[in-house]
Amino acid sequence: MKYEAVIGLETHIQVHTQSKMFCSCANKYGAEPNTLVCPVCMGYPGVLPVPNREAIRRTVKAGMLTNCTIAKFSKFDRKSYFYPDMPKNYQISQYDLPFC
Ligand SMILES: [Zn+2]
Repeated sequence: MKYEAVIGLETHIQVHTQSKMFCSCANKYGAEPNTLVCPVCMGYPGVLPVPNREAIRRTVKAGMLTNCTIAKFSKFDRKSYFYPDMPKNYQISQYDLPFC
């Protein structure tokens, strides 16, 4: 029997933005622990994450530079997990309809 190897890559890239992806907290390294947080990034009940426009713009730009197809429609998904070090227990991700 013949098989064809099909290999997919999931690539994680951090775009350089002034604020985090889903809130206005500063996105910078070297600050004291737990100083760049807010109710949104802590996942408090009732908060609403808002995607960072500049991060999306830079993501699409990176997709264009790497010859990706740019989606006309995209969405985010909330994946619930238990993380011992992350009390909100979910991750916001793009599952089936990513930007690129
Ligand atoms: Zn925040």
